[in-house]
Amino acid sequence: MSEDEKGEKVYTFSLKVMIDKERSKVLFATADRHFVDILLSFLTLPLGRIIRVLKQHYGDELPTIGSLCSLYHSLSNLDNSHFVTVGAKQNLLNPTTSFENEYKWLKLDITDFQPATYFYCSVSYRRCSNKFRSESNYYDYIELCQDCGSYEMVKVVAKKESEAGYSDGIWTVRGASFTILDDLQIFPDEIGLVQIMTLLGITDTNKAEVFQVDLGFNEIMKLLKASLTSPTPLSDVILNKTTLINSPRVPLHHISKEENPNSSSVSLKLVTQKSSGKLLYAQAKEDFVEFLFSFFNIPIGGAEHLMGGKACVKAIDNLYRSASEFIGDKYFKTTEDKMKLLNPNLPHGCISKNQILPLVEECLPANYTAFLSRFSSVKFPKGQGCYLEEPRTYHVTDDLTVKPFCSVSVLSCLNSLKIPMSDVEEREIEIGFKEALNILKASLTSTSALSDALLTQIPNKQIKREV
Ligand SMILES: [Zn+2]
Repeated sequence: MSEDEKGEKVYTFSLKVMIDKERSKVLFATADRHFVDILLSFLTLPLGRIIRVLKQHYGDELPTIGSLCSLYHSLSNLDNSHFVTVGAKQNLLNPTTSFENEYKWLKLDITDFQPATYFYCSVSYRRCSNKFRSESNYYDYIELCQDCGSYEMVKVVAKKESEAGYSDGIWTVRGASFTILDDLQIFPDEIGLVQIMTLLGITDTNKAEVFQVDLGFNEIMKLLKASLTSPTPLSDVILNKTTLINSPRVPLHHISKEENPNSSSVSLKLVTQKSSGKLLYAQAKEDFVEFLFSFFNIPIGGAEHLMGGKACVKAIDNLYRSASEFIGDKYFKTTEDKMKLLNPNLPHGCISKNQILPLVEECLPANYTAFLSRFSSVKFPKGQGCYLEEPRTYHVTDDLTVKPFCSVSVLSCLNSLKIPMSDVEEREIEIGFKEALNILKASLTSTSALSDALLTQIPNKQIKREV
């Protein structure tokens, strides 16, 4: 390990890699638990945080990741006046997780972890030392000190300090080492070479060579990007290839209403071309757009949980399956850690009131619940989970680009496409649990998320023809 000026981003992971030179492909790698912790941390990252850290690193060179980049771009470009506060918008652009405290133990800060925020009483002459950690996105301000009764509470963000140097790891146990396949299936080393070779379908090892590879910050960022865009992330990073997923048709989720009977729904108008059946755009109210923006709060492991481990992003599906099946409980520090990884709660107070998916928030600690009446919410003056001002109307395209609705520009767009109004049809549909999950799933892999999720499966009874 070397040091740069800030002493950051300098750790390197050492991997032994078996490479098929003839096919220029990584067969598998062996690595220690700190590297596996980094891979597992991908699952904890909310979709918005993934896009944000990748955008920070790659700028305009970030490739398209399903429809998420265009949705994120729309969110950041939407005028502040559409949001209840600028803080509410910032919460979506840079969502926090319930793992912020753990991230500082990662050997490399790929998550751009958010240091803790504290409320403390500044009445020092009375020696009031009341101080506690901010735990909620909603209850984000406290005026009155419950110890000395003063109104001199202040909110302070802690200094961001990595603990990587003293790290004992986050999820996996000390001494464990792992075999990782090109597509990010992870097995404890106890699986043995013979099983690995059988899994890979390899009988002849003459063409395989072993290399020692060091992966630093840039390579790990590339691995994060490739895990979302490539079926062979290790080859992409180690052999510097680019393999893009051959955008598979997203298999839709078939869910019975009983699976989520309490699900709410929002309505959406789909505007299609009669002659071709193609989606031209969707017209949405703020509730649907807020539902879309709140994808950014969902950790990708949480998305996997909602979809039963089949989000159709191959490498992420494999990571999730590794954590749930291949890496046995004994390789995790605690079963609780493993369960939290597989089904992460969202931080308190961030779930949109228009959330259709069954997401769960962290509970508030006792020092909050006892004093809730003293808290107020600066970011969410209209109530918990109310991000967008209402009433508003939005124009949403197939790749989830969201703009304020404007009839004039829609008409000029139809004219430029030479589509007469007589060839345009409008249907109003309800977006419930099943549709919501399909939009989330399609957004991860497809640039035509709305068509893929909605157009192939609208039951006739839901279609309400309008004039
Ligand atoms: Zn005080």
